[in-house]
Amino acid sequence: MVLPLLVLLWSCAARGPASPPEAAVRADAELHPDLVAQSALLRRQVLEPAEGVYVAVGFGLANIIFLEGPTGVVVIDAGEGRAPATEALAALRERTDKPLSALVLTHNHADHVMGGQVFVEAGPPEMPVWAHETTEVRVDEVVHVLREATWLRGQRMFGALLPPERETGDGIGMRLRFATEDIALARPTHTLAEAAVVEAGGLRVELLHAPGETDDQVIAWLPDRRILLPADNVYQAFPNLYTIRGTPPRDPLAWVDSLDRMRDLRPDLLVPQHTLPVLGQEAVQDVLTAWRDAIQFVHDQTVRGMNAGRTPDELAATITLPPHLAAHPWLAEHYGRVPWCVRGVYDGYLGWFDGRASTLEPLPPQERARRYQAAFQAGLPLADQVQAALDLGEWAWAAELAQLLVDADPQDRQARALLARALDGLARGHVNANAVNWYRTEALELRGEVTARVSPPDAAPLDLVDGLPLHAFMAAIPTRLQAEEVQEVDWRALFHFTEEEPSQAEAWYSLHVRRGVAELRRRDAQQAAAWREERAPDLVVTTSARTWKRVASGHEGAVGALASGRLRLEGGIDELLRLQGWLER
Ligand SMILES: [Zn+2]
Repeated sequence: MVLPLLVLLWSCAARGPASPPEAAVRADAELHPDLVAQSALLRRQVLEPAEGVYVAVGFGLANIIFLEGPTGVVVIDAGEGRAPATEALAALRERTDKPLSALVLTHNHADHVMGGQVFVEAGPPEMPVWAHETTEVRVDEVVHVLREATWLRGQRMFGALLPPERETGDGIGMRLRFATEDIALARPTHTLAEAAVVEAGGLRVELLHAPGETDDQVIAWLPDRRILLPADNVYQAFPNLYTIRGTPPRDPLAWVDSLDRMRDLRPDLLVPQHTLPVLGQEAVQDVLTAWRDAIQFVHDQTVRGMNAGRTPDELAATITLPPHLAAHPWLAEHYGRVPWCVRGVYDGYLGWFDGRASTLEPLPPQERARRYQAAFQAGLPLADQVQAALDLGEWAWAAELAQLLVDADPQDRQARALLARALDGLARGHVNANAVNWYRTEALELRGEVTARVSPPDAAPLDLVDGLPLHAFMAAIPTRLQAEEVQEVDWRALFHFTEEEPSQAEAWYSLHVRRGVAELRRRDAQQAAAWREERAPDLVVTTSARTWKRVASGHEGAVGALASGRLRLEGGIDELLRLQGWLER
């Protein structure tokens, strides 16, 4: 049943695997020169960034990487079909004739798995195929309920229907050469949950689960040579935290955490599955740090804006990377885009409703379009058209137009009154309690009769505050950071939470505020000491979890806690106040 469905589904594949993308994208006056340069970078080539590490770039969308050991070759990823895999294998054979020993699939995306059979056929009987334990299920979802939607959207995003003279490249690779008839999927024979060691070809390859671009992402680490293959968790373009072909929201904080674990490995060579390798420990740290900072920045500033009641449209229009990240060569927006990712983060937390009553139940698209046509033909002032709609009891249309007036001037009392009337109209006779409450409340707010407020933290009962986990208080720091205040700051604090009851263990947190981002890490005693050794912190806070929670929630003053000796500071109260000043109240 599945196979005919697949064929039917993918027979509309535009170009198939036929023409290999040998040539770079043709520059034309309509293409951004940086995008042309990016595609030129990703032209077909086999790189050898370290002895026995072969990176087949430009055979398909993703790189196919070969790790040559003393007795064999470990293949990392398989391309999107038989054609790219076969051509990459032929290129390997020009360099070594050692047998294939194992295949590792870094995650479920088609550009990494669909050529696997080519390598299995070329390898020994029962060649191991490694993947995360959830990868196979995700691969099989190509036939799930969204198959048509994701296929149609993918065709547009990857430019599958563009004629060769309009070819643009795909930002992180020359071209996705995907076609149904070219699928040569090899199913995993060995899986891992968190970690595994692959001994093959005389190599020892550590596989680590590192969720990021997908939840099943597996990175490969060669500890002896300090070589890291980060899969799709890093590439030379701004990350697709949200991809417009359509996926569920990707977890930005899990992605940041994976990048931090990669930084902790201190690799000397980074070989990603898209774009080109990075050589040298300092250069690798710079790329990984820029990436984790960019993702965290977008996450934290979106959350901060959400908490301030801003809409996704407003946030997408106003959140921009700090200049040093915007200019970073590994963060150009050739693949992901900051505004899309801001919307993705918003959507991941709060869903599709932007929190404005006028957008809750808009008119159907055709009716809306016809009304706009008629309104432009009438050529009357906007406020008059709102008034006319209100007089006719056309509440949704009145709300739509009145919202434009309010957006143009949020302080315009007349505009706010018109929108309030429209919302009251929408509430009239509505069957849904949530909708009626929202319409009526927002109408009151527009008239200035009520204000929606969050109760201050010190209003919470003390036993509730004492009972909350310490981590909740610490994790709230980065999302409260006023990024614009710390664009030039490079400041470090170490928090040491001492044991106060046998049930509570000691805990350490490091906080590095740097150029628009606050990196918060939980540490153990040894890591905390090493971090302190690396560079003296500007502030060291020593206190109990209970005291810190009470001070942070406003139940106790910092000065009183200092005087009583329950809070100790190295660096002085000025540094604590400095931190406080950078955070939203
Ligand atoms: Zn990929």
